[in-house]
Amino acid sequence: MKYEIPVTRTQNPKPRPADESQLGFAKYFTDHMFVMEYDVGKGWHSFRIVPHAPFLIEPASAVLHYAQMMFEGMKAYRKPDGSVQLFRPDMNLARMRTTCERMCMPEVPEDIFLQAIKELIEVDKDWIPSGKNTSLYIRPFLFGDEVSFSVLPAQHYKFMIILSPTGSYYAANDAGLTTARIYVQDKYIRAAQGGTGYAKVGGNYGGGMRASQDAIKYNCKDVLWLDAKEHKYVEEIGTSNAFFVINDEVITAPLDSGTILPGITRNSVIQLLTKWGIKVSERKLSIDEVEAAAADGSLKEIFATGTAAVISPIGWLCHNGTDMQVADGLVGPIAQRLYDDLYGMQSGVVEDYMGWTYPLGFKV
Ligand SMILES: *Cc1c(COP(=O)(O)O)cnc(C)c1O
Repeated sequence: MKYEIPVTRTQNPKPRPADESQLGFAKYFTDHMFVMEYDVGKGWHSFRIVPHAPFLIEPASAVLHYAQMMFEGMKAYRKPDGSVQLFRPDMNLARMRTTCERMCMPEVPEDIFLQAIKELIEVDKDWIPSGKNTSLYIRPFLFGDEVSFSVLPAQHYKFMIILSPTGSYYAANDAGLTTARIYVQDKYIRAAQGGTGYAKVGGNYGGGMRASQDAIKYNCKDVLWLDAKEHKYVEEIGTSNAFFVINDEVITAPLDSGTILPGITRNSVIQLLTKWGIKVSERKLSIDEVEAAAADGSLKEIFATGTAAVISPIGWLCHNGTDMQVADGLVGPIAQRLYDDLYGMQSGVVEDYMGWTYPLGFKV
């Protein structure tokens, strides 16, 4: 079904960032945004594309107090021929459904979601950067904005999509990658079984900030989270999924605990490795096993995966005041190959041999 999405164009278009190598992550936003509203009993309504601008919110809105919200993170890429594509948007939709169910929020219908993204990006298509390692970051989010202090699911919701031209998440070398230092966090936890770890919700992030501030104190970029129960098994790195290469096996935490965010990059990495004939295991891995492997030389690589940074190789782990180097501390061959093919397919310089790209049907 096709919906009517009226567009109100901005009267004050913003200057585009001049230097695409300095875009950073979510520093700039495009001229427009998509908005729609939901009322219990009425469903989704009032679809519109309007200028990206601050909006009024009642101070007693439930979301400001009890955080009934969710968000997604995806990207649009400009191919060398100027056509524009998304990467596996069906996966974002499926994850949104799971998150909304966990947070007692209304589902966002697939057809409205895809039409809204397509029409919004087309309105702001001149903002899609074309430089090396760049893309247009898409942030859909949904929150309950009923005026209420009762701790109950809201009766009214707003769903919005905003866009940001972005470059490398971390400063990168010519090949697009660099290694980071990560702090092994054994005091604070990110997610416990039965909690909201598998859902993409703001509360997980707010609760994680104390730990990442501690990591920065130790000169580390982010934290390696351990499980909440035993503080023993590796879970995620910051807001990314974590992979460990020990001997010839690539290992990542399994999803069945409900404490791991099911990353679309994580899923893509597992599928690519399998296709390449590299052994990949979704299994519990203790920090002791990682440290023993580092000591005997069998730890080859650690890297984090996510939409924002794609692949982030880790050069050092900092644990209990000691530094542990991962192999030679440089970008490993598996991380580099994954980055090259994944970002290559996304940006259209490598043929999409997995059928993952989703053309939006227009050119810049
Ligand atoms: C979004 C996110 C990821 C990465 O998911 P992608 O779909 O690959 O972007 C990993 N961990 C957490 C906690 C996240 O919020």
